Formats: sequence, C-alpha cells, structure tokens
Amino acid sequence: MTGLDAAKSIVETLSDAGYTALFAGGCVRDRLLGLEPVDYDVATSATPDDVRKLFRKTKLVGAQFGVVLVRVKRVEVEVATFRTDGSYGDGRRPDSVQFATPEEDAKRRDFTVNGMFLNPFTDEIVDYVGGREDLDRRVIRCIGDPDARFSEDHLRLLRAVRFAARLGFALEAGTRDAIIRHAPRISAISAERIRMELELMLTHPTRTTGWRMIWETQLADHLAPGLQWTESSAERCARILEGLPQTVSIPLGMAAILVGFDVKHVRDACRDLRCSSTVCRAVEYLVTTSARVLSHDPWELADVKFLMASGLGNDVLALSKSIAQAEESGSERVSDLAARAARISPSDYAPPPLVTGDDLIAMHLPAGPRFREVLDTLYRAQLNGELTERDAALAHARVLIAN
Ligand code: ATP
Ligand code: MG
Repeated sequence: MTGLDAAKSIVETLSDAGYTALFAGGCVRDRLLGLEPVDYDVATSATPDDVRKLFRKTKLVGAQFGVVLVRVKRVEVEVATFRTDGSYGDGRRPDSVQFATPEEDAKRRDFTVNGMFLNPFTDEIVDYVGGREDLDRRVIRCIGDPDARFSEDHLRLLRAVRFAARLGFALEAGTRDAIIRHAPRISAISAERIRMELELMLTHPTRTTGWRMIWETQLADHLAPGLQWTESSAERCARILEGLPQTVSIPLGMAAILVGFDVKHVRDACRDLRCSSTVCRAVEYLVTTSARVLSHDPWELADVKFLMASGLGNDVLALSKSIAQAEESGSERVSDLAARAARISPSDYAPPPLVTGDDLIAMHLPAGPRFREVLDTLYRAQLNGELTERDAALAHARVLIAN
C-alpha cells in the first residue's frame, strides 16, 4: 500500500463516520504541481479521541497539537484535528492549541501554497488563503501579516527560503522584506533546527539558489556565531555549490559553504550547529584536505591512498574540482590527483601493515611517541611501494629503532 492509498483510505473511513477529512498542506501543494509528495497529511474535524476509536493502530504523537499517527497496512499517516494555535511564547511553538474550523486551520499554516486542502475523492480544492493563485504565480507568501507570522515562529524564515528554492519560486516582496527585517531572530531558534533546514537545502539539487536566497535575505549572517560571509565569499560559495554533482552528502554540502574559513571556524561552526561528531570530522577533513589538494604540496602515493582509504576521497575530489572551477585555477592539479586515485585498486588503499606494534614490542621498543612514529614511517613506506616484503620491512624497522 502506498502513502497515497493509505491516506485515501483514512479519509474514507473518517468521512463515512460523518467527519470532515481532507488532505492538507504540502501534499496538496505537491500534487497540484505534479510532484510526488514526500508524505500525505490528513486534517479532520474528528478529535484525537475520535480518531483513535476509528482505527486499530494509532499512536498519539503530538497530543497537545491534536496529531495522531494512524497505521494502515504498515504505512503511517499523520492525522491532525483542525486547529488554531494559541500564543507563541518561545518564538517556535504555540503555547496551546484549540480545535477549530478548516478555515482557521488553514490560516495558522505558514505559506499560502502550504495552506490548502484537497478532497482526494472529488479532487475539490479547499482554499481559504489564495494558495492556488500563488502556485500559479510561483511565489512563496506568508498567510496573513508576514511580520506577525515570522514573530510567532522564527523557523518560518528558513522554511520560506527552503520552499522557494526547492520549488523554484520567488519570495513574494512583502514576505521577502519581512524575512530581511526578522533575519537576526533566526539565532533564537535551536541550532539543531537551523542545521536541519540547512541540510535539507544544501543537499537538494537547487542548493545554489537556496544559498543565494539565504545570503540575499541576510539569514546567512545569523546561522552560527562567528560565521560571516562577505559579498564575494558568499558568491564564491554559490559557485562552489553550483559545481558539485547533483547529489551530495551532508558533509559535502556543508563544506561547500565553509570553504573560505580557517579550520577553527569550521570546527566551531559544526559544533555550534550540533552536527554529529562524524559529520563534524568529515566537514573539517573535506575543507582542509581540499585546500591541500589545491596547494603546491606534493602528494606521495601514500597520501593518495590515505585519501581514498578515508572514505571521503570522492567528496574531497568533487569539492576540490568545484573550488578550482570557481577560482579558475588548479583544475589540472585536481584531475591529476583523480587520475592517480583511479589507478589504485581499492584493495590497495589500506593493506594490512607489514610490520605491527607486536613486532616493535618484540624488538623491545618502549611505548611512547617514537613507537607511533616508527610504525607510521614504515606504513608510509609500504604504501609508497618502497617496502614490499615483511623481512625487508622488519630490517628497516631495526634500522629506524637503532637511530
Ligand atoms: P515537505 O514536503 O518538506 O514535507 P511540507 O509542506 O509537507 O513540506 P511539513 O514540515 O511536512 O511541510 O509540514 C506540513 C504542513 O504543516 C505544511 O505544509 C504547513 O501547512 C504546516 N506547517 C509546518 N510547519 C509549520 C510552521 N512552522 N508554521 C506553520 N505551519 C506549518
Ligand atoms: Mg511534509
């Protein structure tokens, strides 16, 4: 059963029981645009208790918001009671909600194109907010007064940009001006939420448009403390994003906007945005290693193997290539390195070491920094093809220890 079928069957059950039930929000927008919705949301006059009585498998996910997760043949659909939101004390979540009419429910939603309902059996669109027209005009416009809507929930500032970029829509002028006025308030939103919005935007094929909008609306200045772009560095990031492949990993998307910063800023930014430690490490590696690719430092065969063994080799090469294109310098260095990497068989990226710590212990080398150094020197020589036999490697180890 698809999400669409599940949502339809839920609407049918609710309607048969005498409630109003409609598709709501993003799935209506996407269907009208001929796009495949990510998921289907149902809005209904039935209360959460009513919904739980009608369906066998339900989970109350947002009791305070009237949201019930209904499972139909392994597919989960969010079923939300029509509601209005109470006041917003924290700039993100309403303090309370009240069950309400479909019209009131439409008006609490963020943007006109996200505020429509659809009856999936009659294909009737229920539009209290002018969403149809704005879809035709291809604009993202706040429902109601933009200043009020952005004051209630500052996350909408980033959502507006994300939807505009993703759909290839413009920001309606009043909405855009309000975003610029409210931009500093984005820093009051939790870092996790800011990061999630950024990730969605930077991994989408429309990432360049998204980034340019973030910059133009001045949201870029408030993403994380210590991260400031200039007109030219922001434009450089846009060009780097533009040169990346269609699909990019989260670290690669993040690294593209952090390329101009020194390593401390990169590290702090990832930590401030609460990126996972894996992502933090990957972003830092991508930024620093692509700088090394484009520098005049020589790359030994061992360095190329370390790069490929890191699991981030292709991302480093993609980022370096894109930086080189944006700067119109260094492309040859990147393609040389990519060609060298391509000639190495993956089984040779990180072969087992010819000499191990146990061997050094047997040679009575005491633990300490020298121990690591000797192992590293031997392994590098092995990767470079200078040591190919264990006996020769052991002999070389003895020489190193003796010195
Ligand atoms: P996506 O395709 O990215 O999931 P979506 O429009 O479905 O986009 P969701 O975040 O899944 O967005 O939210 C579903 C609907 O809930 C939205 O279409 C909108 O009507 C409403 N909504 C979500 N977040 C907010 C918000 N912060 N303020 C007001 N309404 C919101
Ligand atoms: Mg959605």
